[in-house]
Amino acid sequence: MSTVVFRNKTGGSETLHATPGQRLLDVLRLHGIPANAVLAHRDGEVIPESTAVVGTDDVIEVRQVRHYDLDVLRRPKEYVYAAPDPVYTKSVLFDHGGTLERRTEQFTAETFVMYVEETFVQSVAAGATMRAGDRVVIGLSGGRDSVAYLKLLERTRGRWPEVDMTAVTITGLPDWDEPATFRTALDACAGLGLDHVIVTADDVAELFKLREPFVDVMNKVVAGEHRNMNMVIGHQVLRRMLEQEAERRGAPVVAFGFNADDLVASMVTWFTTGYRMGGIPVRELGSLRYVFPLYRITKKELTLYLELVAPGLNRQGAPGRFTTGSDERSLAYAVADHLYDLWPGIDYYLFNAFENVQRTLLPLIDDLCRVCGGRYVLQEGVANPAGLCDVCGFLHRQEALRADAV
Ligand SMILES: [Zn+2]
Repeated sequence: MSTVVFRNKTGGSETLHATPGQRLLDVLRLHGIPANAVLAHRDGEVIPESTAVVGTDDVIEVRQVRHYDLDVLRRPKEYVYAAPDPVYTKSVLFDHGGTLERRTEQFTAETFVMYVEETFVQSVAAGATMRAGDRVVIGLSGGRDSVAYLKLLERTRGRWPEVDMTAVTITGLPDWDEPATFRTALDACAGLGLDHVIVTADDVAELFKLREPFVDVMNKVVAGEHRNMNMVIGHQVLRRMLEQEAERRGAPVVAFGFNADDLVASMVTWFTTGYRMGGIPVRELGSLRYVFPLYRITKKELTLYLELVAPGLNRQGAPGRFTTGSDERSLAYAVADHLYDLWPGIDYYLFNAFENVQRTLLPLIDDLCRVCGGRYVLQEGVANPAGLCDVCGFLHRQEALRADAV
């Protein structure tokens, strides 16, 4: 019989369920106790949780090292609004002047769809991501996220401000083509009365003044030591091509399909690097306004939504070689997802806090890239050559740009 006793700093002790052969770290994790919060002893000797394995007849004592109540997360005060056969539960941990309360609502398939649509409509109004009379360009990969976005627009039509939207599909990399769902995306555009424009690989090579076809440049990047740049380049290309289309159409607004956890992950990167970042869910840079209309909906919610309203469309292939991100990116997303588990609804607090922080920051300083024409934010401590964005600077060093480009 092995015993693991947890002694907390509020005077309580508790026997943790443990079986011989289990790692002590796993025992702690199952009980919601972070290793950093405790010191563990076996027979009076300190042991590291990560290597200790629970033995038969062991008596292990785990003591909390700081005086605070771990149970705010382990056993939160919770109110559950139950539903029969739920498909999803939405929890939000509320902080009422220092007192915490977790509210959880269970949704059936039907009420979940209503919840997502209501959240979308309300967040559009609250965040002013769509304003009456706006001329907007939206990126349409034809993939799952953009189909979900169009479905949302379609099904809530009449409940958001009248705007003039153009959908732009940027082609040029094999990973960007989504033949399985693209047709539906086009049908949804037609249903919504949206214009649809296709940007080609030649347009990309022209704007970025590439020496070779875009796909050849990217093939070299992913085959080389700077393969981690692939998503950075891909995103900049998508952004610039959207902006170019916006400029052509006299549309000052560009909409991106980032959802809540995309933005939480970018905040993780922001507060661990100190890089400057524009506002959420609306950011102004130069003469353009960037908006994120899906900022209140998580990727999981969007995925489930699509599965419920258009089950046949919910396919997404594995990422290809041009759309596989760096470890750094995965870390930001993993931390963001864990944060949601620890503090459900943390995005509400983060975005509001970030809005306050923005007000006290010095104004962003930006510059115009002389190659791609993109406006980019100058980062403190990062020596960018004047008038050259990260991506064009990188492509220039790789000799991927035409001789007359820089
Ligand atoms: Zn550039």
